[in-house]
Amino acid sequence: MDNTAEALWRHAQAAPDSVALRDDAGVSWTYGTLRDRAGALAASLREAGIGPGDRVLLVAPAVPEFAVAYYGIHAAGAIAVTANTMSTAHELHYVGQDAGVALVLGWIQIGPAPAETAARLNVPYWPMTTGMPDLAARTGPDDPHPTGGDDTAVILYTSGTTGRPKGAQLTHGNLNACAAMIRRAHEVTAADHCLSALPLFHVYGQACVLNTVIHTGASLSLLPRFTPEGMLALLARDKPTFMAGVPTMWNALLRAAGGHRPADFAGLRHAVSGGASLPGEVMYAFQEHFGCAVLEGYGLTETTGAGTAHVTGRPRRPGTVGAALPGCEITVRDTDGAELPDGEVGEIHISGPVVMKGYWNRPDATAEVLRDGRLRTGDLGARDADGDLRIVGRKKELVIRGGYNVYPTEVEEVLYQHPDIVEAAVIGVPDDHYGEEVAAAIAVRDGAELTGDDLRRWAKQRLSAYKVPHLITIVDQLPKGPTGKILKRAISPALFEGRR
Ligand code: ATP
Repeated sequence: MDNTAEALWRHAQAAPDSVALRDDAGVSWTYGTLRDRAGALAASLREAGIGPGDRVLLVAPAVPEFAVAYYGIHAAGAIAVTANTMSTAHELHYVGQDAGVALVLGWIQIGPAPAETAARLNVPYWPMTTGMPDLAARTGPDDPHPTGGDDTAVILYTSGTTGRPKGAQLTHGNLNACAAMIRRAHEVTAADHCLSALPLFHVYGQACVLNTVIHTGASLSLLPRFTPEGMLALLARDKPTFMAGVPTMWNALLRAAGGHRPADFAGLRHAVSGGASLPGEVMYAFQEHFGCAVLEGYGLTETTGAGTAHVTGRPRRPGTVGAALPGCEITVRDTDGAELPDGEVGEIHISGPVVMKGYWNRPDATAEVLRDGRLRTGDLGARDADGDLRIVGRKKELVIRGGYNVYPTEVEEVLYQHPDIVEAAVIGVPDDHYGEEVAAAIAVRDGAELTGDDLRRWAKQRLSAYKVPHLITIVDQLPKGPTGKILKRAISPALFEGRR
């Protein structure tokens, strides 16, 4: 099986009436309907001259119609370039031009940016509306266009902290391997029902959640915009067997539940957490309150979102993100690429069938990170003797204070133990004396009267002096990226001026 759409076709054939997707209003899409609409879109694309290797820009939120477009593009043999729905026309134009897209598909409710982009690129614009009724009258192909496992299926642009955003090319083989690995690690079956509020343009929601669910023949409830109240309502309505999200979501759900144990979640087996480090305090509180395990995973866009995972049935070690998924190889290396022994911190390298083909049209950038099929992740971590990986932070976020390495994750872990702290992010701020100073931006519980001095005193009892955040600023909330993870690069060092 090569084309990702083949699983959809197969399940639609075997169980056309089983539910594939449900939106936040409660409208269900069966496998049969999803396949029919995706097939009709594939036929329309082929009629418009779009086929194997052509790129289609897809700008839509986490609604079932996204999946229609996604599998329709794949069934036509084309490549989906999925972009953030918050993008401006300027940003979309960059992506559309870089990828050389032949068509733009845009969810009509997000505004004019997709249509404007298509006009600027001089390519057709096809608006997407609720239910995609225009496709109802068409029939699609009996089977998706046959593709090779090495054919590119999607191009996902990483936001790029330095330089221009780069398009990571993931193949049909990458997507299928990711789905198979996650199914196995978390024992997902066709009887499972997942709940997710992750955006689908990003690898986590798209590959690890949507495509894994469709690959398995399971079902998925989608919440297009995360709010803790909305998620709690869907938990009660759809009674999922598992859910997927980022740490800030678990934290927000805990606060929204306000100390009351949410109603009946007996069927909830686990919550999958990824995208960012999950503070131990949040994990334990969530497990206690929601009565389900939290399984943490680690991956990047460039590895189809897969890498390591806590697996069902194996005890999880606090502070780790689990072991390499079967088929992935994880090594920890020094700057020269030599492998380091267990326990030593170095750069994490990943190889295996989930590693991207390369960045679109960027052989230079590809060569920097990909050698012999091994991806240099830019993350720092150490492996223990059992193969479990501990991530200490990103290489570029390491704080070097007076020659000492301070790993932000370690300091954040401690800050989260403070009863008044709701969110914390530790960064390095340029400092004349130490080179860099440890700085923490925190959000505190409503009504808490915590001062920087209190917190420094508290932290001193738990951390070596050089790790204590000397600069502290209290903010209403920390900036978040599109998946909901804390966006450290948006925390300006200027916030800490005069805070010493
Ligand atoms: P962009 O490249 O678009 O700016 P990004 O760097 O967040 O965004 P993603 O591919 O979305 O790129 O995220 C991958 C990164 O997220 C990893 O390199 C790692 O730093 C972090 N990450 C993912 N999962 C975990 C986890 N479980 N614990 C700690 N960090 C994680």
